[in-house]
Amino acid sequence: HFSSCSDVTISRSCVPIPIECLAEEIGLFSDEVELYGRTKAKVQLKTIDRLQAQPDGKYVVVTGITPTPLGEGKSTTTIGLVQALGAHLKLNAFACVRQPSQGPTFGIKGGAAGGGYSQVIPMEEFNLHLTGDIHAITAANNLVAAAIDARMFHEATQVEFLFRLSKLGIKKTDPSTLTEEEITHFVRLDIDPESITWQRVLDTNDRFLRKITIGQSPTEKGFTRTAQFDITVASEIMAVLALTTSLADMKEKLAKMVVATSRSGQPVTTEDLGVCGALTVLMRDAIKPNLMQTLEGNPVFVHAGPFANIAHGNSSILADKIALKLVGPQGFVVTEAGFGADIGMEKFFNIKCRYSGLKPHVVVLVATVRALKMHGGGPTVTAGTPLPKEYIEENLALLEAGCSNMRKQVENAQLFGVPVVVAVNAFKTDTKAELDLICKLAKAAGAFDAVHCSHWADGGTGAVDLARAVQKAADLPSSFKFLYGIELPIVDKIRIIAQKIYGADDIELLPEAQHKVDLYSKQGFACLPICMAKTHLSLSHDAEKKGVPTGFVLPIRDIRASVGAGFLYPLVGTMPTIPGLPTRPCFYDIDLDTESGEVLGLF
Ligand code: ADP
Repeated sequence: HFSSCSDVTISRSCVPIPIECLAEEIGLFSDEVELYGRTKAKVQLKTIDRLQAQPDGKYVVVTGITPTPLGEGKSTTTIGLVQALGAHLKLNAFACVRQPSQGPTFGIKGGAAGGGYSQVIPMEEFNLHLTGDIHAITAANNLVAAAIDARMFHEATQVEFLFRLSKLGIKKTDPSTLTEEEITHFVRLDIDPESITWQRVLDTNDRFLRKITIGQSPTEKGFTRTAQFDITVASEIMAVLALTTSLADMKEKLAKMVVATSRSGQPVTTEDLGVCGALTVLMRDAIKPNLMQTLEGNPVFVHAGPFANIAHGNSSILADKIALKLVGPQGFVVTEAGFGADIGMEKFFNIKCRYSGLKPHVVVLVATVRALKMHGGGPTVTAGTPLPKEYIEENLALLEAGCSNMRKQVENAQLFGVPVVVAVNAFKTDTKAELDLICKLAKAAGAFDAVHCSHWADGGTGAVDLARAVQKAADLPSSFKFLYGIELPIVDKIRIIAQKIYGADDIELLPEAQHKVDLYSKQGFACLPICMAKTHLSLSHDAEKKGVPTGFVLPIRDIRASVGAGFLYPLVGTMPTIPGLPTRPCFYDIDLDTESGEVLGLF
């Protein structure tokens, strides 16, 4: 039933199962579930311990071809596949997806709950505050920011020394009377303000906070400096939440975050600032995955949503781990990796799986006719104008040319030794000849199987072929391997990703990047995995280059470190870390019906 219903109308047309009933149905004990209203619950981490002896289910990651503005439907396919595995093949199936940022929800992007008849419901809960995890991250992040500036202020004005001396019974009021011994007696972090990498965050697309001056009140005695805001999901704390494996591990990671360098070249951490205990307190609920459901009543964990460029763009390890135990050995956990396979999937394997120790069984690579046509040289599209005819009429030549991108992404997945199933997400204007052509070329590229599916229009029924193909692929012996060893030098790791995944001839380190290679090697951070911050719109660094670009050298402008989360992120070009609002933002359409209490206009 292709319909003209909006996603929110479909979402509302279905009455969700009370979340405590769903929790019971999937084998959770009532004391493991914390209810947040009737449609959301947090699941306690002790569930993993209870189910320790239970073998894990099969682990599936959904990724895509290089994204285009036409949309590919990875989230929709993740949910559609779980609905097919669960409601139609009668297997235990769990989806694990990211929590979206409110910035894009009110700005430009629209929802992230899937779409059509493959959605997480209720979608307004999903897309708005959920259970407050992002707010907790904002609070924790900004506590660190406040601690940094306050520390520099107090060290400089020596108020802190005087205070501590007074606690020891030494009364002094004038800092100039401090002896050298008294000064060195106390730990000075001596932060170099130029080296501060920690920014303030908020979950709003407020572009005017991209560069600010702080400390302008006279009470700050001239301690002004240039700073910036990032969007909350770009906070390292979000990446920590996504990559942590236990409460103790989260505390350790939160303590290891490097926020600056001292004037003598030492890394300054959150532990040095004395703030890591408080951070753990602020994050103690956020660490528990949030249980929701699909339109067809399958369980979904919505947990963590790190940026997919300066971070790794994958939902949490803990949600996957709990879900894999709950579904049991015959069941399936389907998770999604942000952006295309060159970014989200590569990071899923090299970063997330490295930290979780989990071995994936199948890659589902989502492709669409229209996006592949754009890779084949189809015209650019402008929001708000009708789609050019190339995308709505059969054009096999354009499609075949664009399938080069799919081929390269299939090959990329195979570098990790995991079987690939291509899912062609059908739009109503696609022709059978077009859908079949993609499947034929996908198999020729080495995919284990390729099927077209209509889960957006039909729900789980539309993805039954996909579910069967995934089930078969999951029975193949896995030969999962990482692309590089973390012990390799930083530059070698970057080069391996650039050459093998992006198809670059080589990489070029600009001076700032070289400086960071030297700094991080000296500070002992060289053995971290790499999280490339590159445009998602091309396999190369140039967003305009579609298909499979060749003959390019990848420029590395700078390298940053997320030491707590556990990766280095080389910057290929400039990465905005807080989006702006468009001329016509989504919030124009959003309203509340005060009679019924319903949210209106959310997609
Ligand atoms: P991604 O995860 O790749 O960003 P989504 O699954 O979020 O993509 O889908 C993007 C948008 O496209 C959503 O609004 C969704 O409803 C829509 N969409 C996805 N698949 C289809 C389809 N087959 N037909 C029409 N619209 C679709």
